[in-house]
Amino acid sequence: MTVSRIDLADAATPEKLVLEILKNEPGLAIPVPIEAFARQLDIVDILPLETDGYEGGLITPVDKFNGSILFNQASPRRRRRFTIAHELGHFLMPSHVPSAEGRFLCRLQDMLALKANEADRRMKMEVEANRFAANILMPAPLFRKDAAAGKDPDLSHLVKLADKYDVSKEAASRSYVRYREEPVAVVIARHGKVLRVYGDYAKFPGLSAERARPVSPYSLLRRRTHQEGVPSDIDETDAGVWIDVQRGRKPPALYEQVLLQRDGFAMIMLSMNPPDEDEEDPEDDLTSAQRLRRRVDR
Ligand SMILES: [Zn+2]
Repeated sequence: MTVSRIDLADAATPEKLVLEILKNEPGLAIPVPIEAFARQLDIVDILPLETDGYEGGLITPVDKFNGSILFNQASPRRRRRFTIAHELGHFLMPSHVPSAEGRFLCRLQDMLALKANEADRRMKMEVEANRFAANILMPAPLFRKDAAAGKDPDLSHLVKLADKYDVSKEAASRSYVRYREEPVAVVIARHGKVLRVYGDYAKFPGLSAERARPVSPYSLLRRRTHQEGVPSDIDETDAGVWIDVQRGRKPPALYEQVLLQRDGFAMIMLSMNPPDEDEEDPEDDLTSAQRLRRRVDR
């Protein structure tokens, strides 16, 4: 490893930071050796966190001469890797300034944040640290290629990618829905209720599933029994189970696949055919003003 922080001085976004790192480390090993990376980039210590209620932390002076990363020892190893990458993101992002006490402290909820209100500076930093972590652990040029392999979106494929990149299945699913060409969404459920939903909404129509609400009894999760740890077959379902179908419109074909996990968790992958496979363009008979309206309404 040869990259140094001087090489990264001009990168102002998480994506640019990762691109600069990749430029300097063309032969980067997968899974990415995130701890060695952090040490190469002036992180002097990576230690268990002793403050309850937090998933990770970074101790660094305002000038960020060097830093120490803290992680929750009780968390699974793959989540700890994500935490270390997230804290390294705070350390490397020039606009991320530590608190007056010279630290960042991050909760589990922060590690899941994907969007923030413009005015919420702290949350914006969390979102950027997450983008850095996802990008450094699953570098876009490599992950995009790997995600594109395989004919249809498939949870078995997702599990293999999580193993290859040594990230949690949930972290892998966030990148998967982004890089797969087809519209794909992943629903994380627990005890039959929707916990989190990931989808690229430029491609996937908005899901009608709401957080904390029970998963529809007509969904594959509840229609059949599932074996823990074994992805189910991919099954076509009534699109109205998951998305709002406008009256009078032909609903798109929607596919479901379920992976039951430990402690009542389940992953549900929803996928649709790529738009160009549709027989007819539903906007064909609309004026351009109507089309625009439709998009704005989504
Ligand atoms: Zn953070």
